[in-house]
Amino acid sequence: MNRPLEDLRVSVTDRCNFRCTYCMPLDEYPWISRDQILTFEEISRTARIFAGLGVKKIRVTGGEPLVRKGLPDLVGQLAAIPGIEDIALTTNASRFVELAQPLRDAGLNRVTISIDTLRADRFREITQRGELQPVLDGIQAAKRADLGPIKLNAVIERGVNEDEILDLVEFAREGDFEMRFIEYMDVGNANEWSSDKMVSAREILTVIRSRYELVEKPGRGSRPSKDYDFSDGRGGVGVIGSVTEPFCGACSRMRLTADGKLVSCLFSDTGADLKKRLRSEATDEEISVFIQEIWRKRDDRYSETRLAQMNSPSGYTPQSRKKIEMISLGG
Ligand code: SAM
Repeated sequence: MNRPLEDLRVSVTDRCNFRCTYCMPLDEYPWISRDQILTFEEISRTARIFAGLGVKKIRVTGGEPLVRKGLPDLVGQLAAIPGIEDIALTTNASRFVELAQPLRDAGLNRVTISIDTLRADRFREITQRGELQPVLDGIQAAKRADLGPIKLNAVIERGVNEDEILDLVEFAREGDFEMRFIEYMDVGNANEWSSDKMVSAREILTVIRSRYELVEKPGRGSRPSKDYDFSDGRGGVGVIGSVTEPFCGACSRMRLTADGKLVSCLFSDTGADLKKRLRSEATDEEISVFIQEIWRKRDDRYSETRLAQMNSPSGYTPQSRKKIEMISLGG
């Protein structure tokens, strides 16, 4: 599909201090055992090999990356790799008050923070274990640490938080953040996704346009979001429509799971075992060839296939295939 390999998403842990209903609602899960988790040295070695293949951007994610001990050390190692120009982090920010500045000092460039609601009671319901205030404080800490442009992610789920789209937009405009709305995706199986719980990108945009005039930004490139500027010049907003407006053809991302599997698609059911090679006598060159083979052979286009099935008479059955959970895969 002529997709260049441009960015690497690294999941540093499959553990999370939240249990968001749309992501990993289960209390217990077959967590990856400690000895199977890649060490920081193994992750940096992998990143160096990816940099050798032209990758310039790395996003650190999870699970919740801030629960991995010593994360600034890893960011420092990644920042020292020649060719890596941009290190971003996706986090729930609940521990960012302590960690924003150390991560910035270690070389983190940007942060995306997940926040689906501004109401404390609803926040508890969605995350099952989280509190809103530390996240709001974490967002301010990101600002103080100059980790901008700060993006805020909200997954919009029907009957859950669709009534907060405009409040979230206003919150972002006031704080000078970039709000991004994500269609609720059928990633993994634990969330028991169904299409009627999804609010489409088109619906989200209609709500935003009921109050604000938007101008679409040109040059989307491989970004998953369609981005817009507010015509009054006060910031922008993005919408990620991976269910109703798939962008498989522009996907330039490879994912590395916390236990060292390489996964080319968010909706995959398996990954390629890189850890086995990292823990063998394989040279960097051999590992590089292994990565190139995976990337060349990739023909996944799950979201496009799903949309075609959703639009077909037989429809789409979300639980028909076992998919890797987002918490393991790295969102
Ligand atoms: N724990 C971190 C966080 O909360 O941002 C990083 C991992 S989380 C899996 C990454 C992103 O995936 C979050 O913005 C989250 O909202 C999003 N996400 C998780 N499950 C999703 C789903 N079913 N549909 C759409 N987005 C989802």
